[in-house]
Amino acid sequence: MSKQPSKPPLHPSIIQVPMEVLNSYLKQANINSKQCMFCGTIGNYSFNSIIYEFRPFFRGGIAIGGNIPTVPAILIICKNCGDIRFISTIITQMTPQVIANQPPQSKDPLNGR
Ligand SMILES: [Zn+2]
Repeated sequence: MSKQPSKPPLHPSIIQVPMEVLNSYLKQANINSKQCMFCGTIGNYSFNSIIYEFRPFFRGGIAIGGNIPTVPAILIICKNCGDIRFISTIITQMTPQVIANQPPQSKDPLNGR
């Protein structure tokens, strides 16, 4: 039996939805019955608990400070064709509990300030 290589730990500032919260959402959304709009496969999705952040486009640069609106979301990826769905963790109320449980950050992950 071969041993799986261990993954390096995630960066400590990465915010994740607690697995029980994510699993509850996916069950409520009935993810196993959802059909991919691109390839038609049903319920063949990959996902994880990492919250990604969508920011305005700064022509390849990085903007720091000021009021920069961001959208936190989890990704749901079709394992057959790679189509990616974004689920807002604000609308689904998966974000606030996560932030409440995190140590203070130098930057507010909800709005970039
Ligand atoms: Zn697909």
